[in-house]
Amino acid sequence: LFQDITFAPDIPVYATTAAYNKDPCPNKLHLGIGVYRTEEGKCHTLNVVKQVEQALANDLSADKEYLPITGMPEFNKLSAKLMFGSGSPAIKESRVVTVQCVSGCLSLRVGAEFLAKHYHQHVVYLPEPTYGNHPNLISAAGLTLKTYRYYDPKTLVLDFQGLLEDLGSALTGAIVLFHACGHNPTGVDPTCQQWEQIRQLVRQRGLLPFFDCAYQGLVSGNLDDDAQSIRMFGCDGGECFVAQSYSKNMGLYGERIGSLSIVCKTADVARRVESQLKLIIRPLYSNPPIHGAAIVTAILKDRDLYQKWTNELKAMRDRLVQVRRQLYDSLCNKGTPGDWSHIIKQVGMYSFTGLNKDQVDFLTREYHIYMSSDGRINIGGLSSKAVPYFADAIHDAVIS
Ligand code: PMP
Repeated sequence: LFQDITFAPDIPVYATTAAYNKDPCPNKLHLGIGVYRTEEGKCHTLNVVKQVEQALANDLSADKEYLPITGMPEFNKLSAKLMFGSGSPAIKESRVVTVQCVSGCLSLRVGAEFLAKHYHQHVVYLPEPTYGNHPNLISAAGLTLKTYRYYDPKTLVLDFQGLLEDLGSALTGAIVLFHACGHNPTGVDPTCQQWEQIRQLVRQRGLLPFFDCAYQGLVSGNLDDDAQSIRMFGCDGGECFVAQSYSKNMGLYGERIGSLSIVCKTADVARRVESQLKLIIRPLYSNPPIHGAAIVTAILKDRDLYQKWTNELKAMRDRLVQVRRQLYDSLCNKGTPGDWSHIIKQVGMYSFTGLNKDQVDFLTREYHIYMSSDGRINIGGLSSKAVPYFADAIHDAVIS
């Protein structure tokens, strides 16, 4: 058996991590995988999460019984409110179905499986570029991938005209994937006015919006502001899908906690959709795990803990802005050739530096700096004390 099996290709972000772990150089830097780190390079665990975990550990009355297929009901309710807002008409009218899923990835996959089974149009338009796992997750469900223009590599900004043209000529009824905020990998988001134009076009053309929301709170520092794009679509009466992740904004990476929400036209449709989601989830993982959902629920339902969370989130976001500024200033002070202002204009966890593959290879070879070959860096993985070393390395790569 399996005599002829070939080696699968490496998955780039994990291969980068493995190479980094093997490297004995004390100055090495890992700016590849999207994990928010402390100044010491450790994965940052939020204090509010530690506090809740302590309380959960002390609660000996809690048992380990299976959750329902759709997860913890309170978690689902609170997650919907976090994304769509407390005044959401769709929530008030019971038109939103929210199911706890195994993090952002499986929320996307469950949504894609549902669409493959119950939606007539199987074409999904992804922004070019997009998160590396999007094509895998969506095509694994049997949907067909196409792309729409999103980012202009020449001007390093949103290719808004290209986006409008591509969505304007997209196949009728096609599914369109949007990053709710903090676009990965570019760090470039549409403005509120641009989102409104996108919304009108999507609705006019009968396209189906599918939001991926993995960075709520880490872009503007305000959870409501970062959900604006979703809320515009979520309150106009039309359908909308949202995959949500708590990996980054609560630092719960390994807990694999997230949700899928589907806004429907009526409460009756929403109930039927929910019943069908159970049939999608059951053969995938049967029901989701408890621990992450218990942490999120505890934070979202308690006013003090919620406040602590938003304070910590704001501090994390402010550090991202500060590190961007520091990197930009260092490159300017060194006189590194080129205009680096995109580093401070971009938002969220990532910066699309504009460095090419050869320059990235140079950084790895000469400076032990590990990052994606497309030039994306995780600003959340860069400590302020490492910025001078990183700026020296970029300078050297650019002039070499
Ligand atoms: N969507 C985007 C845009 C992401 O960047 C990520 C994680 N890097 C995910 C989804 C998946 O997140 P999770 O770890 O919650 O599966």
